[in-house]
Amino acid sequence: MLTLETNITKINRVGGVVAKRLKRLGIETVHDLLFYFPFRYDDFSCITPINKLQAGTSANVVGQIELIHNKRSWKKRMNITEALINDSTESLRVIWFNQPFITKNLHNGDKVSLAGKVENEYNCLIMTSPMYEKIDHNKLVHTQGFVPNYHLTTNITQKQIRFLIKQIIDLAEQLVDWLPIEIQQELKMLSLSQAITQIHFPKNNLIINQAHQRLAFDELFLIQLQSQLIKIEQNKSKAFAITFHEKETKNFVEQLPFQLTNGQRKSTWEIIKDIEQNKPMARLLEGDVGSGKTLVACLAMLNVALNNKQAVLMVPTEILARQHYDNLCKLFNKFNLKIGLITKSNQQVNYELGIMNHDKNSKLKNLQSRTSRENKLYAGQARSLLGKQNSLFIIHNSDIVIGTHALIQEKIKFKNLALAIIDEQHRFGVEQRAALLSRSNTDENEQKPHLLSMTATPIPRSLALALYGDLDLSIINELPKNRKKIITQIVPEIKRNKAYDFIKEQIKQGRQIFVICPLIDLSDKLGVKSVEEEYEKLDKIIFPEITIGRLHGKLKSVEKEKIMQDFLDNKIKILVSTSVIEVGVDVPNATIMMIEAADRFGLAQIHQFRGRVGRSDFQSYCFLFTDSQTNKTLERLAALVKYSSGFELAKIDLKLRGPGEVYGINQKGFPELKIASLFDYALIKQAHDQAVKLINQDSSLASWPELQEKLKKIIHLE
Ligand code: ADP
Ligand code: MG
Repeated sequence: MLTLETNITKINRVGGVVAKRLKRLGIETVHDLLFYFPFRYDDFSCITPINKLQAGTSANVVGQIELIHNKRSWKKRMNITEALINDSTESLRVIWFNQPFITKNLHNGDKVSLAGKVENEYNCLIMTSPMYEKIDHNKLVHTQGFVPNYHLTTNITQKQIRFLIKQIIDLAEQLVDWLPIEIQQELKMLSLSQAITQIHFPKNNLIINQAHQRLAFDELFLIQLQSQLIKIEQNKSKAFAITFHEKETKNFVEQLPFQLTNGQRKSTWEIIKDIEQNKPMARLLEGDVGSGKTLVACLAMLNVALNNKQAVLMVPTEILARQHYDNLCKLFNKFNLKIGLITKSNQQVNYELGIMNHDKNSKLKNLQSRTSRENKLYAGQARSLLGKQNSLFIIHNSDIVIGTHALIQEKIKFKNLALAIIDEQHRFGVEQRAALLSRSNTDENEQKPHLLSMTATPIPRSLALALYGDLDLSIINELPKNRKKIITQIVPEIKRNKAYDFIKEQIKQGRQIFVICPLIDLSDKLGVKSVEEEYEKLDKIIFPEITIGRLHGKLKSVEKEKIMQDFLDNKIKILVSTSVIEVGVDVPNATIMMIEAADRFGLAQIHQFRGRVGRSDFQSYCFLFTDSQTNKTLERLAALVKYSSGFELAKIDLKLRGPGEVYGINQKGFPELKIASLFDYALIKQAHDQAVKLINQDSSLASWPELQEKLKKIIHLE
């Protein structure tokens, strides 16, 4: 018997190999498969008579096979399957390439349904490589009605995914509909099982929208609800009141090589005022890339440290954690702050470290008071201890700890945690935020750390409030004064060499260059292929005399760090990389951001890349390369030339890619939403209002046990 929890290997025709591929798409159970939504639909809702077909359109044709056979094309060494289909109005020639097995499935006289593109070949219409289905008495899945299209990975086909979902779609009935019935009724929503069934196999256009509406609402509603619950929790708890150390703060600011912007000053002030209270702060600091959010965070952390309390800073990538760590060690040099770094592959401190280790037998080992020469050894020891399931670490003498997700393991606690900061918070879920807040080891007296979330998502205040309803908002709405507008250009292929000459010139002047490559295919998730190819080309052919480095997901963490460090030290002049450097990385000396196959990226994402340059008073440039010459692509990229606000760009991207693509749109730089759109203000507002209403009725949510259960599951997932 299949259930929602059944592993997909139990489904007919899913073997180990297919299961492995599906896992790459995040699909392991029947439930996962049901929640793997299509990103668009082909409309084959009507059948076109063959004599009415038109070249250049997609169509669904139903007819009888008059003839079908395989032949070899010697020139191209290809197997071609050729067929003639007749529907009593006329015959149509159909061919498939390299799929000889088709003749095993389809035979002369079979009735088939075909869906595909009609083209003109030597004045005759022809259908090339259509999807096909033999018509017996089963229902058609691939070629009739609205046919769903899914994002794929190598060696998985649309057909396979549809076939699998078709087999289990009836299990949608078993889904627990956790959305309170009064909300469903008030908003006239489909039930969860209806929505799931219709999102995969919709009866018509109208119902696609309804299904989409329900599933998108669910997503937003859960975010809102969790936010509201955190807010209640925060309001109930106490926090350390942090006294403002004005003199030291001023000293710190004066030693900086620049002046704070007004936005930085104002935001810092709002934060200082908040953490002076013994009630936990919950604040979102918003500022476009390069606006200097890190510094504002530093001023808050400095004051926490001067109060002999601890601050923690969580960031999404190891590269960024390392960079913040180095940066802060330098910035706080004069203050002798004790700073630590915790990532999966790196634990390090800038002082003699002391961590208490409570192991299983609750033997208390105080690992303090080691000489600095032993620091390295200590880090090694900490690493092996961190690997142990039952050891609990209480970090008790770091002032500031910087880290990645590795920070939010159950076994890590802070003795005196007063401030938790999340950088690039859109990269983290609400539940990870909650996990970071619970790192404080002071549950007895219910002390909660102050929370500062930082994001470059430049969304308007009204939207931010609706989306992160629980957070107060500080905005840095200006860039440091010395910044020049980044000159952005779409570079046609014929001018590529000119661009390379320009790069040589910039390097001569001492500047540095980023080159970003897209993934070649989905299976190459780590981006090794594209980066290696580009690196080889630049290193051997274009710039043989220049030092070039490369960065991709396959490299070990130490290797990545070494390369980043060499780039920061200007030993590497050109860094070829995947999108890993998208967030946060700060190399002020870099002035050119060159992006290959720019059409493969979302505009908001390119805006993030572009934010990696223009971080000093040197004039900076962003060069966009693309093979695609379609108007649509060029129009999209032209928006980057025209606009320099991330929010404007995200909106344009959405408009140009069209609502059909919206489900799957890469909303990088925004909260991870699977199906909802950030620009659906109305739905966000609805979700917000309903969440608040529910909490006001019964903040324990005990009246809605299914909902309670659902929230528990989400929070436990991470
Ligand atoms: P983001 O807001 O994108 O995180 P960062 O904090 O990384 O931006 O700051 C970007 C760069 O600007 C850093 O090199 C930082 O030292 C510099 N910076 C920050 N504040 C100022 C300022 N007021 N004037 C000039 N440069 C600044
Ligand atoms: Mg940053």
